[in-house]
Amino acid sequence: MSFDYDLFVIGGGSGGVRAARVAAAGGAKVALAEEDRYGGTCVIRGCVPKKLMVFASEYAGMVEDAQAYGWDIQSGDFNWGSFKGKLHAELDRLEAIYRNLLKNSGVETFDQRAKMADAHTVELADGTKKTAKHILLAMGGRPVWPDMPGAELGISSNEIFHLETLPKDMLIIGGGYIACEFAGIMNGLGVKTTQYYRGAQVLRGFDDEARGLVSEEMCQRGVDLHCGTNILEMRKEGDKIWVKATNGDERLFDQVMFATGRAPNTVDMGLEALGVELGRKGEIVVDEYSQTAVPSIYAIGDVTDRVNLTPVAIREGMAFVETVFKGNPTPVDHDLIPTAIFTQPEMGTVGLSEEEARELEPIEVYATSFKPMQQSFAGRAERVLMKLIVSQASRKVLGCHIVAPGAGEMIQLAGIAVKMGATKEDFDRTVAVHPTMSEELVTMKEPVRTA
Ligand code: NDP
Repeated sequence: MSFDYDLFVIGGGSGGVRAARVAAAGGAKVALAEEDRYGGTCVIRGCVPKKLMVFASEYAGMVEDAQAYGWDIQSGDFNWGSFKGKLHAELDRLEAIYRNLLKNSGVETFDQRAKMADAHTVELADGTKKTAKHILLAMGGRPVWPDMPGAELGISSNEIFHLETLPKDMLIIGGGYIACEFAGIMNGLGVKTTQYYRGAQVLRGFDDEARGLVSEEMCQRGVDLHCGTNILEMRKEGDKIWVKATNGDERLFDQVMFATGRAPNTVDMGLEALGVELGRKGEIVVDEYSQTAVPSIYAIGDVTDRVNLTPVAIREGMAFVETVFKGNPTPVDHDLIPTAIFTQPEMGTVGLSEEEARELEPIEVYATSFKPMQQSFAGRAERVLMKLIVSQASRKVLGCHIVAPGAGEMIQLAGIAVKMGATKEDFDRTVAVHPTMSEELVTMKEPVRTA
């Protein structure tokens, strides 16, 4: 049977684009459909614009620190309009790069929505049908928020990059990555920021001590964080949004942002009818090679809800090409993925949290929390945390958790050692880089506790 293409990819985000162009570079005939902008969540409405906003929001504090270091400079006002213009110009530039990458690798693109018609056929929004030997689903995810009175008045992280003006007063709902990162960003940009989280402590699933410090520092810097609090109801009141919370508070905000999780983009894709198995959240169920229950259909990235991070989607895309087009079956290794949360301060983490590790085996915990030199000189009360979880039996470092400015950069490197199976003694025989914050990772002599 002959097909129009060897591979048809649905979704032009990080994972889909990488798989498409690597397959095409290897000689496959490839097409890709994208209904929105190329680059996907990461480039257009996620990691990239978010990180630029983190940078923008950090300057206010830097001016104060510079003054403490003797600089005669004054902080001015933040001009959202000017920043936003540059931000979107940058996103346009990046999207053009993504389009060029596809074009230069010979991938044919369709700027429209696509869905499945049968195991080898994709139907485009204009009604045309394309056949392919293999189909790769890489549609990503989208923000979801609770169904409650007035919920439509709120925004998600998708809209935050497009605000006409910065709100004076903002409420953020949720306690995950997105909620905590934007609480820091908005607060840094001078927005009076309130955060409601329904649980007892933000960043559920991460090391307790690390997330405890992040939340303490967020509050210290001015985020009005209320744990054990959720939103009940909202309605328009003049040009404000009136919000009633579970703690009895009734308050007015200029803007309310929901960061209450994301769902895989599998609605109305024609998947169930073909026998592609979906999980409880609508995620596509795949095996270790990213293959679905229908042999010709594979899925990668957030649409599979495995580990929802850009570099993981890219890995999954590369492993898919290796498996399907290079005859080299390559399972995706999801173990020991280092990651950073761009809260203020940042958190970098790899491996097991103390709570997870002690359920598995006897451990030693090495941890130190201190005021870093640069900020302490500037008169800030801010603290950082360096923490290692060590197996008593194998001496391996099972987890490394850093809360500090630049923790994302640090954990990338510590992640190599942990992934290689370094022991506490390997860390110890590495000479400290002095004076740095991360030198503490190789100078902690005694465990603070065993468990
Ligand atoms: P998360 O799943 O991390 O967090 C969702 C938050 O919303 C949780 O605190 C959850 O509470 C809360 N929540 C869920 N439903 C409700 C509800 N009905 N009412 C009130 N609160 C609710 O999702 P995010 O949207 O923050 O991020 C999505 C994913 O994107 C992340 O898992 C991550 O993989 C990725 N991401 C990664 C980043 C990075 O690498 N730096 C940055 C941003 C996103 P509870 O804890 O009680 O369930």
